[in-house]
Amino acid sequence: MPDILKTILEQLPKAIESANFEGANIVIYTADKDFFLSGEEKVREIVNKIKKRIELRAAKALLVTLDETKKQILALVPKEAEIQNILFDEQRSIVAIEVKKPGIAIGRGGEILKAIKEKTFWIPQVIRSPAIKSKITEAIRHVLYVKEDYRKKFLNKIGKRIYKEWSPEKKEEWIRISFLGGARQVGRSCLFLQTPESKILLDCGIDIAASNAEKFPYLNVPEFDIKSIDAVIISHAHLDHSGLLPYLYRLGYRGPCYMTTPTRDIGALLALDYIGVSYKQAVTPLYKISDINTMVKHSIDLNYNEVTDITPDVRLTFYNAGHTLGSSMIHLNISNGLHNLLYTSDFKFARTHVLELATCKFPRLETLIIESTYGSRQDILPTRHESEEILIKIINKTIKQKGKALVPVLGVGRAQEVMMIVDAAVKQGKLPNVPIYVDGLVWDVTAIHTAYPEFLSSSLRTQIFQDKSPFTSGLFKRVGSPQERREVIEGKPCIILATSGMLVGGASQEYFKELADNKKNSITFVSYQGKGSLGRQVQEGLKEVRFPGEKEEIVPVKLEVATIDGLTGHAGRNELLSFVNAISPTPRKIIIQHGEQSKSLDLASTLYKLHKIETNVPRNLETLRLR
Ligand SMILES: [Zn+2]
Repeated sequence: MPDILKTILEQLPKAIESANFEGANIVIYTADKDFFLSGEEKVREIVNKIKKRIELRAAKALLVTLDETKKQILALVPKEAEIQNILFDEQRSIVAIEVKKPGIAIGRGGEILKAIKEKTFWIPQVIRSPAIKSKITEAIRHVLYVKEDYRKKFLNKIGKRIYKEWSPEKKEEWIRISFLGGARQVGRSCLFLQTPESKILLDCGIDIAASNAEKFPYLNVPEFDIKSIDAVIISHAHLDHSGLLPYLYRLGYRGPCYMTTPTRDIGALLALDYIGVSYKQAVTPLYKISDINTMVKHSIDLNYNEVTDITPDVRLTFYNAGHTLGSSMIHLNISNGLHNLLYTSDFKFARTHVLELATCKFPRLETLIIESTYGSRQDILPTRHESEEILIKIINKTIKQKGKALVPVLGVGRAQEVMMIVDAAVKQGKLPNVPIYVDGLVWDVTAIHTAYPEFLSSSLRTQIFQDKSPFTSGLFKRVGSPQERREVIEGKPCIILATSGMLVGGASQEYFKELADNKKNSITFVSYQGKGSLGRQVQEGLKEVRFPGEKEEIVPVKLEVATIDGLTGHAGRNELLSFVNAISPTPRKIIIQHGEQSKSLDLASTLYKLHKIETNVPRNLETLRLR
């Protein structure tokens, strides 16, 4: 038995049946009724001493039967909480109660949960059911609560690895980071961190706009061995950061992937969609649905600001990045605080309708790795107010001339932001009351937003709690089938929000194909268009588009083309500079990536001039030693 568990058991009464790890947490199981109900005090004492989280749960022998427990829960939880589902994790003595109103189910000061625990000996957990039903969230919850004990064993294995050298002796320290993708480019983000103890991957994305050879990060470098990776950390669910994660499991990776809960749910959804899109384009997808399942089984979800050991010498904390639902900046405390690294990934340093702005205060910081999508001095973005007015103006003009206004959106982030802008504009009478269609992934992602209001801006959170959010307002009409899509294309003037954001496959490309040759219609780009994508080409004035297929189609581009940079989920140049100004503590080194080469270099030279801090713009495949 690992030392730390022995140390804990020595301090407890003999009533403990077993002790094991759940990732970085320690769980002890007791079959002694009295100790289960009154042992908290004793456990807290030990927690204070060893500074690790310990949970006390009932051993199997103590648990009340499933049927009886269900009965008790239904009797104890008020009807107004609206129970949707009760899921048992029998291996871990946990019961998850999915409800519409978590506050009511928990009770004042947690009194209802306490009563459930005392009557059934199960540990109750309350989860919120989305205001809009989400198949993916349901499916994931079922994967996590299956009967087999695989997950319990897996979590225990992670813990053993983390505590392998509890109170380790001092040895040589070094930290290196390699850029396997996303350096001097946007797309295929993938960073590889190595210490004498740990090998950790930060993000693993696909560049969907790139040609085949450049789609994927350099996972074929000699020092990268999938079997020796300790952990994968995903910053947020955009394909260029999370798209290749299921593929790692296909390759045989069986370690943990850390992310926030929304990132897990949306990531799984995007991966599923990626498989669908691949088949539509007649390419064999890189991974199968079973690989996504495996990924979910190995996921460990963390909240913002929750500090967790992930290997013997690395401690992870996620901070809000303000970019998409659940998007995180990744903070790593390495070698007991010897070196602290912040990987911002994609972030926004301004408030939006959907999210709060990114965090800029950290406990400690030596190296900052920052994105630079809008890093050049030309990338001063118009204000959000101006940008919103422009969007409304374009839509109004299109509707007036009896056209259709197409807005390709990234299903995750931009779509919900645009929905909120349009919703407000209609309510204020700034837009006519025409149908607003939502097609592609948007609807499912929006549903996930309603499941995790704690990750949203405070105003949107309140709207969701009161069931007054634009997402459930009835203003938006979901397009669910090809038949319905046909009706939209042949119908009256309207607004269409559709994925993908860069016209690379998906519903937006199909609408574009049908709407492009009519100058009454318009297309408005509101997010970054990757190099080589159809969106980028149209943005830059492409006159006709060839659509390959059984019968090649050539479509002239006559519709109005507009770009609004100010609605992006990325920090503009000014936000990047003010973020580095505001960041605390001041880093000693800044590494610039996730930007086209000229933009990254431009930002680096400005930051150096302003702060006299060492800056570095690595290329893909380069390795930097941080210590
Ligand atoms: Zn992103």
